[in-house]
Amino acid sequence: MQPKPELFDSHCHLDFPEFDPDRDETLEQCWVKGVRSICIPATEARFWPRVLKLVNQTPDNVRRYVALGLHPYFLESHQKSHIDGLEQQLKQNLKTICAVGEIGLDYALKDSDLDLQHWYLIKQLELADQFNLPVILHCRKAHDVILKQLRRVKLNRGGIVHAFSGSEQQARQYIDLGFKLGFGGTITYERARKTRQLATTLPLESIVLETDAPDMPMAGYQGQRNTPTRLPLILQQLAELRSCSVEEIALTTTENASSILAK
Ligand SMILES: [Zn+2]
Repeated sequence: MQPKPELFDSHCHLDFPEFDPDRDETLEQCWVKGVRSICIPATEARFWPRVLKLVNQTPDNVRRYVALGLHPYFLESHQKSHIDGLEQQLKQNLKTICAVGEIGLDYALKDSDLDLQHWYLIKQLELADQFNLPVILHCRKAHDVILKQLRRVKLNRGGIVHAFSGSEQQARQYIDLGFKLGFGGTITYERARKTRQLATTLPLESIVLETDAPDMPMAGYQGQRNTPTRLPLILQQLAELRSCSVEEIALTTTENASSILAK
């Protein structure tokens, strides 16, 4: 029997307090289930140290890639001086930081200062360019605005659009800019027709898997904490949607995530 291909969870908030009671056990279970790499993007400056702490790894444990950034959802926690702080962190820890993220625009938020969101996005895209890093993007209802900035900055190493929710045309524009698109728990819901359709028709070379744990619970697990150990359920679902073997999906999506996040 062939060994099971390794899986890569390209987006998991393993630093969140939801995992404090059982983070080590979760990582052990990930290993058992074949989830051998996890990317952990930060959300606020005050959490950068706890994210950086998670990068330490032993050879027989899950590889942990960390990204530092200021997430648009938590705009009220950010200060403009955090951009200088991020530059310092990137200078000091460039070897251990795999990307700038999680950054982006969330125009679905009510009462959020959209201009300020835009300001943080541009500053962080410019830092990614300066340090030759990819980015991990969060985007709701603002893909055309982000695409415009990406065409301007032209990042060498592209990035990942996490929990992709745009149109096929927008997906193709991201792909042309060197980006991969993240698909997660949404595709386990039958009602998510548009996202399922995209996950089925886009080239497999442009797709990465993600759990977004502890958020985005999968069908059948609503109301529970999501965990990276459930990544194989997303793999299974994508294989069914694409009428493809789980081995092929696992192999290709892991290569895709590694091509962006592993140096
Ligand atoms: Zn996230």
